[in-house]
Amino acid sequence: MTDVVVVGGGVVGLTTAIALNEAGLRTVVWTAEVPRRTTSAVAGALLGGPVTAEPHEDAVRWRQVSLEIFDELATRPHTGVTAARGRMVSRRGPQPPDWAPGLPGFAECSPEELAGYPAGFWMTSPVADMPCYLDYLVDRLCKSGGDIEVCTVASLEQPTSAAPVVINCAGVAGGTLACDDSVTPVRGQHVVVENPGLTEFFYEVGPDDDWTGFFPHGDRVVLGGNARRGDWNLEPDDRQTADIVKRCAEIEPRLADARVIKVDVGLRPGRPSIRLEEQQVDQGRLIHNYGHGGVGVSMSWGCALDVVKMVSA
Ligand SMILES: Cc1cc2nc3c(=O)[nH]c(=O)nc-3n(C[C@H](O)[C@H](O)[C@H](O)COP(=O)(O)OP(=O)(O)OC[C@H]3O[C@@H](n4cnc5c(N)ncnc54)[C@H](O)[C@@H]3O)c2cc1C
Repeated sequence: MTDVVVVGGGVVGLTTAIALNEAGLRTVVWTAEVPRRTTSAVAGALLGGPVTAEPHEDAVRWRQVSLEIFDELATRPHTGVTAARGRMVSRRGPQPPDWAPGLPGFAECSPEELAGYPAGFWMTSPVADMPCYLDYLVDRLCKSGGDIEVCTVASLEQPTSAAPVVINCAGVAGGTLACDDSVTPVRGQHVVVENPGLTEFFYEVGPDDDWTGFFPHGDRVVLGGNARRGDWNLEPDDRQTADIVKRCAEIEPRLADARVIKVDVGLRPGRPSIRLEEQQVDQGRLIHNYGHGGVGVSMSWGCALDVVKMVSA
């Protein structure tokens, strides 16, 4: 007997399903794509950054709850999460933003370390090697008694025949399934290269369109990036690839000749605010957990644990 069907096998759906299973609710994930082929697999992913872009009143709490779990995961092997040191820079200067001095490992950059930006600082943060982290989540889900089925639902009513509770964690498609036209894809492209020896991340916070950043994960480095609102195109763009490599190489010259392993494209589920709420429906119970934009990994545990409270209420 299944208690809950989670629609979506990205980071939000897997984390929600794990939290439900570990709370004793037998949960299965129905997903159109395997986790490694989702937007979640494309993310950088920096987990200790600001939540200034997410206006939901619970965003700071969700991030804090998630951060504590990521800090703990970073102490364990084979989770894909590690603690990393790196620079966060901004075109808006000259002072670091108000929230920065409270971050772990905060130290202002020296003029040379600013790499031409007017403001910047060092911090430590958990970072996720997303393909590895998703593998860890799948393994943890299965060990907690959960399961994953690859199937595409045509509507959110479809899974109600399989379980009394359905959770919509379908990312950008979550909006379509919920007839919510406030959801917009925010396309992002990353370039994955062989690591020429980097250990510290670099991230430019602030710009809405093209930003510069790189995240070393073992023998690979994820280079970014950009954000294109309203663009559904999942094909890599060669010009964007060249621009991303060029911008990153201006900061870190060793990246100029690093061999490109692959180019990834993902669609961030853009929405004015995260949707985490129950919707009254005729059959069963329906809870939405989608619309996480560019912070879905950072928010994933906080949102998932709130879903458990809602289901258990
Ligand atoms: C370039 C880039 C960089 C990013 N960097 C960061 C970062 O540093 N930190 C951070 O926190 N976030 C980052 N993000 C954002 C983050 O990736 C997203 O917020 C997050 O992945 C959203 O997760 P999700 O599970 O909601 O959606 P997805 O990962 O898109 O998963 C949606 C799931 O729903 C399934 N699905 C869709 N339709 C159906 C259907 N009809 N039936 C069944 N299943 C369906 C899909 O197959 C998929 O499994 C970044 C995103 C991009 C693109």
